[in-house]
Amino acid sequence: MTHHRPVDGQVYPRFEGIRTFMRLPHLAEAERLAEADLVVVGVPFDSAGTYRVGARFGPSGIRHESMLLRPYHPELAVDVHEVLSLADAGDLPVTPGYLVESHAQIREGAARVLAAGVTPLFLGGDHSVSLPLLRAVAERHGPVALLHVDAHCDLWDGYYGGKDTHGTPFRRALEEGLIDPARSVQVGLRGPVYGPEDVSLPHHLGLEAISADVLHRRGVAATLERILARIGGPGPRYLSFDIDALDPAYAPGTGTPEVGGLTTVQALQLLRGLAGLDFVGFDLVEVMPPYDVGALTQLLAANVAYEMIALVAVAKRRAA
Ligand code: MN
Ligand code: MN
Repeated sequence: MTHHRPVDGQVYPRFEGIRTFMRLPHLAEAERLAEADLVVVGVPFDSAGTYRVGARFGPSGIRHESMLLRPYHPELAVDVHEVLSLADAGDLPVTPGYLVESHAQIREGAARVLAAGVTPLFLGGDHSVSLPLLRAVAERHGPVALLHVDAHCDLWDGYYGGKDTHGTPFRRALEEGLIDPARSVQVGLRGPVYGPEDVSLPHHLGLEAISADVLHRRGVAATLERILARIGGPGPRYLSFDIDALDPAYAPGTGTPEVGGLTTVQALQLLRGLAGLDFVGFDLVEVMPPYDVGALTQLLAANVAYEMIALVAVAKRRAA
């Protein structure tokens, strides 16, 4: 089988070439997806944002800042390109302004990737895309344990009379039985809300929620213990990462920034603490290059995606 890896950074300077994620080969043909262990897939849909929009440029922005990522992860002691055949599968087609149609396209596109038996890493797009992605994932794997890293719980019933926005995907996913609330946990929640019932909403719906405030006071290690207790058991697992989990000082380029968020170091330690767990898929959403400053958010997101890839490499190596 073809082992896909980037062009050699020692031969071609890292800033050269056509921009794919990590300078990986672009593998667009569905029948060739199985040549990869993991593919990066853009989902540039942002018509479900309730405040700022611009996440349609997220995938291209993250790809651009990923050019500096190198093969060896020192903390997890893994060479991602040695262990994994990796490729960039391009972007899923969407219809700007048309949510129902776009969600159908996203679900269909995600199902095609999953059918190849490859682990997908989806780059959003606004957080509404997690719903059609989870529909495709649950169709293949059954209900998943969800680790959801975000400033917001995204469990609202609706906005302005609409049931599908970037603030509602996990409410719909619960109603559709796509995620198992008893094996799901949200991390990083914060910011003013409309009342105390908003704070207790995740718990009310059966999920565990760890606020950013609790994470800051108890630390990453104690937070990881709670996360692993929740999602560490048998069964498929999915990680959804909203870049606004990070403080706007680190991730200004996003749609609904909230102060008091995670630092870059906390986010990296949190992700590395998951090493050994296998995930059936990942998404990384709400990166908005038009609001970014010095490409900070896009660089951070590229590195978050790299940590996700390293998790897959560690899991594959353990299974071997
Ligand atoms: Mn979100
Ligand atoms: Mn959010």
